[in-house]
Amino acid sequence: MRNKSIQVIVTGLVQGVGFRPFVHRIAVKHDLTGWVQNTNENVRIQVTGFPLNIERFLTSLGTESPPAALIEEISHKEMETTLFSEFNILESHDVSDEITEISPDIAVCDDCLEDIRKRGTRLDYAFVNCTNCGPRFTIIKDLPYDRDKTTMKSFAMCPDCRKEYETIIDRRFHAQPTACAICGPHYELFVKQKRISNNIDEIINHVSYSIDRGEIVMIKGLGGMHLACDAFNETAVEKLRQLKNREGKPFAVMFKSIEALKPYAHIDSVEEASLVSWRRPIVLLKKKDGINGDSLATGLNAKLKLLGIMLPYMPFHYLLFDKLKTSAIVLTSGNFSSEPILIENQEAIDQFSTHVGAVVLHNRDIYNRTDDSVVRIIGGKERIIRRSRGYVPSPVRTALNTEGIIAFGAELTNCFCVGKGQKAFLSQHIGDLQGIETAEFYENTLARFLQLFRVKPSLLAVDLHPAYISTKTGLEFGDLPLVKVQHHHAHIASCMAEHQLDEKVIGVALDGTGYGSDGNIWGAEFLLCDLNDFTRITHFDYIPLPGGDSAAEEPWRMAISYLYKVYGNNFTELQIPFLSQLDPDKVRMLIRMIDRKINCPLTSGAGRLFDCVASLLDLVQVASFQAEGPMRLESIVRNDCDERYRFTIDGTIRFDETIRGIVDDIVQGTDKSTIATKFHNTIILAIFESVTAIRQKEGISKVVLSGGVFQNKYLLEGTIEILQKNKFEVYSHATVPTNDGGIALGQLAVASKRRELQCV
Ligand SMILES: [Zn+2]
Ligand SMILES: [Zn+2]
Repeated sequence: MRNKSIQVIVTGLVQGVGFRPFVHRIAVKHDLTGWVQNTNENVRIQVTGFPLNIERFLTSLGTESPPAALIEEISHKEMETTLFSEFNILESHDVSDEITEISPDIAVCDDCLEDIRKRGTRLDYAFVNCTNCGPRFTIIKDLPYDRDKTTMKSFAMCPDCRKEYETIIDRRFHAQPTACAICGPHYELFVKQKRISNNIDEIINHVSYSIDRGEIVMIKGLGGMHLACDAFNETAVEKLRQLKNREGKPFAVMFKSIEALKPYAHIDSVEEASLVSWRRPIVLLKKKDGINGDSLATGLNAKLKLLGIMLPYMPFHYLLFDKLKTSAIVLTSGNFSSEPILIENQEAIDQFSTHVGAVVLHNRDIYNRTDDSVVRIIGGKERIIRRSRGYVPSPVRTALNTEGIIAFGAELTNCFCVGKGQKAFLSQHIGDLQGIETAEFYENTLARFLQLFRVKPSLLAVDLHPAYISTKTGLEFGDLPLVKVQHHHAHIASCMAEHQLDEKVIGVALDGTGYGSDGNIWGAEFLLCDLNDFTRITHFDYIPLPGGDSAAEEPWRMAISYLYKVYGNNFTELQIPFLSQLDPDKVRMLIRMIDRKINCPLTSGAGRLFDCVASLLDLVQVASFQAEGPMRLESIVRNDCDERYRFTIDGTIRFDETIRGIVDDIVQGTDKSTIATKFHNTIILAIFESVTAIRQKEGISKVVLSGGVFQNKYLLEGTIEILQKNKFEVYSHATVPTNDGGIALGQLAVASKRRELQCV
């Protein structure tokens, strides 16, 4: 058999994830010689050997790559046969300003976990990592990805670590953050501002003891500080809630292992796969009830059915669970509510050490702040709700020219997005821009993304809302062409970009609020649109939003607004418990506001209709966290009821009959679960009938679903099912959040399309 030579180019996320050692391994395995090299565009390989072995090598390359690698494309061509004596990893080579990708942070791997249980310089060493695992995005300051461009720069490798780092076949070959107890970072324990210990055994003992006896501790993590306490201890959870000043918002829980969580949550194979994936997100799971004796604290999740659960992902977590008596701890962001997660050691001590039993810090700086990501499995697929650690900064691949575009995002759940080539880099979850600290985080992170990905801004995209801080930031950014994108058009465009759609579609955007082209507050929009523009075909009927933004925080206002719309002044005579609890003076004042149109903007927001129904069922009157009404309503839905209420489609989609039906059911004593389910079924049918009417007229059967309301599993699954049954092609979000965290991608897609059509 004759030797042949080929050159292979691999693109995608192939750096910082142990790709070159992997290539080396499979080349040697298949008796090939040649080399592999990182450039800042891709990974290049040249191999020489028998054709059959080259075939096998290519197969291995595509199918056996390291877990965190994400191959976009493998291309190869035959070269003149060149003989090499062995297979080598060559020095990195800078070829242009085109970057390759940066890996998100990767949960500690099994091999490294074994290392911390073995005698040696990594026994109990909590910063162990290798090319297959460890911190990445959170420590990186610039490209190319080398140790001196990360926050590991200040730690000089000891001779042993250096040797591993330079040994091609070692698991730590070119593992930039590699470290051991001799040369690497370490943890420190503070109690009441005083440094008590830097010995890991002492720290773990102290922290586990504190948690087990009901104290709260602060622990520095991968992307920021966490606050932790025993998830079974009602008093501790209550104390934590008071400390964070966070009325009702559910806390996430970290369980020791999959086995440990199974008695407390329902979990299927897809959910399990997300939980154990190297990204280690928080997965929203349905809590099991009726475990006698040792139930999780009821204060964790405000009595909702869903609970956010994750598994350990840092060596420290594993060491801690080795010692802890409890099998689950609350692990929530270390901050006071509405502020971004803390990353600075001194701030942690200053702000928290007097309030908690202990503060555990380490001296590896966090450069890029990330929260824990949140996902939910809907329709058998992982859907990202909060995109941060483990997912960012992986780009979304589009079919558009995104070069130089900055999309500034929305307001409450902000992420921004920058464009490079055909890629769109969505930022990590930033949060509510109305907080000063969060707005600072936003501006700093934007500057960093532009530098990191070498983006030269040439086009800006903002929301239509003039008062959004993101819009103002965009307008003040500089003298560049600027595109304003309507909120719900951006939602649909975001989902289209995720699926690389570039044509006319029917868009269904359901959310809470977004600024409409007519100045009203939109939120249940049926659009005929492409990436460039949209026509609003229909929407949920307008209703006064008494008190504006405060109506979203007080669902009872929406209930009154709907009752007044449907029954007029007679609504006060309805015999429903909801009304008897309200202060009649407050109700009269609200009606006066509506009559006189004082601070009563009109809204078509689907979220507000859910609020109204949640309030009528007395599930919530004053919300203690965002979207509490819709979440409570979904929480009581049943799966064995296909009844629904009446509604009217007539220019707009009207739910007057629905409200009457709900009130009648309440009067007759129908249980809340049935009413909530009938209401969900009604919305699903209203969506179906509305898009059917649009298809009949326009002949388009691609339907794109977006907006925060589609985080509702029952609603999304039901909508997809009825549409698919009726031969619609349905697109919904998976890798990009359906809530406002995904909007920047849509803004970017619209801006790109308008530039292509030369209308900016
Ligand atoms: Zn590892
Ligand atoms: Zn070392």
